[in-house]
Amino acid sequence: MTDAQFPCPECGEHLAGSQRGRWVAGLQGIRRDRGCKRGHVYPTVERIVPRDFLRNTRIVAVSGTRPYSTDQLQSDLSLKLAPVLSKETRNAVVDRVEIQLVQDWGGRRAPKVLQASTVSRTVVGVLRDFADERQLSKRVADALRRSHVLYALSQESLEFSEASKHSGVSLRGDGFKALPEILDWLVDQYPRLKEAAARRATPHYTGAPRTDRWHTLRGDAAPRPTTLLRRVVTEHHTVLNLTEHELEAHQARTENWEAFPFDYQIYARSVRRAFAGRPNYDHLARYSAQWVLFALAGQDTVRVSDLVAMTTQCLRRVDAVASLRWAVIAKNLTPAALVTEILGMLEWPAPRLTFESDAAADMRTTNQMVPGEQTETQGLHVVTVLDETDAP
Ligand SMILES: [Zn+2]
Repeated sequence: MTDAQFPCPECGEHLAGSQRGRWVAGLQGIRRDRGCKRGHVYPTVERIVPRDFLRNTRIVAVSGTRPYSTDQLQSDLSLKLAPVLSKETRNAVVDRVEIQLVQDWGGRRAPKVLQASTVSRTVVGVLRDFADERQLSKRVADALRRSHVLYALSQESLEFSEASKHSGVSLRGDGFKALPEILDWLVDQYPRLKEAAARRATPHYTGAPRTDRWHTLRGDAAPRPTTLLRRVVTEHHTVLNLTEHELEAHQARTENWEAFPFDYQIYARSVRRAFAGRPNYDHLARYSAQWVLFALAGQDTVRVSDLVAMTTQCLRRVDAVASLRWAVIAKNLTPAALVTEILGMLEWPAPRLTFESDAAADMRTTNQMVPGEQTETQGLHVVTVLDETDAP
């Protein structure tokens, strides 16, 4: 936007000097007082389309530098929030994030580079503020709060509000040591949770939790079930009773078992979603899925609830932050319920599970592979998925 586009309304002359503008959200633009050569001062508003403004900005991340892209931001939100937040709401969040980025920048020209962490912090702030808007239904506000926590936990660190003396929480590593500080962060963001979080959890047993090392197989090799099963309840089912004199109708619940094919890609995506943003994300997601499938090996038909329960158990042992993200989605936890979840993890620390991918061991001869007992069936299934080179 050049000054030539803002001639003086009184004399038509152009500006002699420019002043730093101020972003006005209601006008979606930068308000600036301009002065012409003859000394008239007049206010102008430069409308800004954030998406166009950021067109030439580059985003700097650990993985490299890339152009800013609305599509990229939308797919990032889709990966991390899709089960919790509808597409329309996610797009509304992206619009607000772009406006906020322009507003926070405050310059006349777009930034040449922005740190990826600046963008993700902006997403977290927008989700938090959005959730407090009055006109939202409770359902949408809850979804936004859950998204806020989910997205915040996909970053490398958590930021506290300005009023807090706390400087921040690093989420590097497996996240278990950070749990008490994550609790502090939740209270900082949602002060009404203070009382619930006040109970300082102490472990029910002492000493460091046991660590199991699991030797992974190469690639995605794992026995897969064929069929998943879930129970569906239909509430509005009309039952007609013919009594002696009249026909009587009432509503009844019916329960059915719905069977559908197991789709590895869908399952793997749900696990990857939990690990999004975690260090070593790809590796941990792949081997957690593998571990779970080995734990269920030999069951050709698996209940969805068993698959979810086993995944919950696995993630609680592998990575504390991924486990919290999984719980927010799979158990539909609100920030308040997450406080209880974290206290539970502190009081009942799960044995740790680490993956050793270098040595592709024979799964049938190690008892570290599954949480339960091994059966003959598991061994038989393993043989069919092993590479030639992995076979004994
Ligand atoms: Zn003038």
